[in-house]
Amino acid sequence: MMMLEPLTFEGLRGVQRRRASLARYTSWRAGGTGDLVYLPADRDDLASFVRQTRGLGMPTILGLGSNTLVRDGGVRGAVAILHNPGGALAVADSLVYAEAGVAAPKLARFAANHGCVEAEFLAGIPGTVGGALAMNAGCYGGETWRYVARVEVLLPSGAFVVRTPADYAVGYRSVARADGAPSDGIFTAAWFRFPLGDGVAARRRIKELLAHRIATQPLGLPNAGSVFRNPPGDYAARLIESCGLKGHARGGAQVSTRHANFIVNPQRAARAADIEALIAEVRDVVRTRTGVALEPEVRIVGEHGSPGEGR
Ligand SMILES: Cc1cc2nc3c(=O)[nH]c(=O)nc-3n(C[C@H](O)[C@H](O)[C@H](O)COP(=O)(O)OP(=O)(O)OC[C@H]3O[C@@H](n4cnc5c(N)ncnc54)[C@H](O)[C@@H]3O)c2cc1C
Repeated sequence: MMMLEPLTFEGLRGVQRRRASLARYTSWRAGGTGDLVYLPADRDDLASFVRQTRGLGMPTILGLGSNTLVRDGGVRGAVAILHNPGGALAVADSLVYAEAGVAAPKLARFAANHGCVEAEFLAGIPGTVGGALAMNAGCYGGETWRYVARVEVLLPSGAFVVRTPADYAVGYRSVARADGAPSDGIFTAAWFRFPLGDGVAARRRIKELLAHRIATQPLGLPNAGSVFRNPPGDYAARLIESCGLKGHARGGAQVSTRHANFIVNPQRAARAADIEALIAEVRDVVRTRTGVALEPEVRIVGEHGSPGEGR
């Protein structure tokens, strides 16, 4: 594998950081550093970065890091942070185009402002469009891929391809290649087909959804949303609560007292290892007491170890 230290770049326009804390790029505000952290200026700049770091393998991707735990030992190789508040949003040919770095709530409001309906659920998902595509994020009956007309994908070669939903096997919080090939690229943009309807009602519904979230989720404390997928016909939160685990703590991590499927980092002092150990403990207790094996929804990346410099 290519060594990181002698690596220099040509013509990049984004921000490059070496051994930078990734805690600041995840909503849990925990975890280690990335060897080479890159915030691309735009999709062409990302393509140039991918081409120039080919020897390191594909970068680890973070959008808003709202579904990701970075272990304390950090991430080797390259990490690309794709959140881009200035990313493009547009309407053309009855489709809503959004670049991957745009925040999902911004897409929800943009769609409503353009007379589209059913994108409201995205307002409650504090990630990027790219993260919503990778996770098939959803809530309140809505799911990202139900509305995807096509996606643009950046391949390891640095080339862009456009794909359709038929190229993917999409399920509950899961997106894989339809032909069984390993996931091979970075979502850089998508075209969504939302029905036309009452945009004013859609904006009202966004406000209602957000009010419901504020009332039911521990949004004031660092967290990563639902830690576990809901098992068929049941709710992970109900099972965890039934085991008396609300408020249970491990190191600096705690099962939320407000929503049992959330783990919070109340003092911003949790190590990723605390969070990961608490996830494992909750899983074990729920399996022992109820017989249900909960599957994590959050993605865990990086290596075990101590948080590096830069925190
Ligand atoms: C308070 C709160 C509430 C939440 N509520 C919900 C909810 O209701 N429904 C729901 O589904 N989720 C929810 N989540 C989880 C999270 O917001 C979603 O999974 C979201 O889609 C993640 O987006 P992100 O940009 O933060 O992804 P990240 O956490 O940065 O990444 C998640 C995964 O996607 C990959 N990825 C990210 N961007 C790309 C890209 N451009 N191309 C390829 N892969 C990529 C990453 O490599 C990683 O594996 C919630 C989280 C929080 C904190």
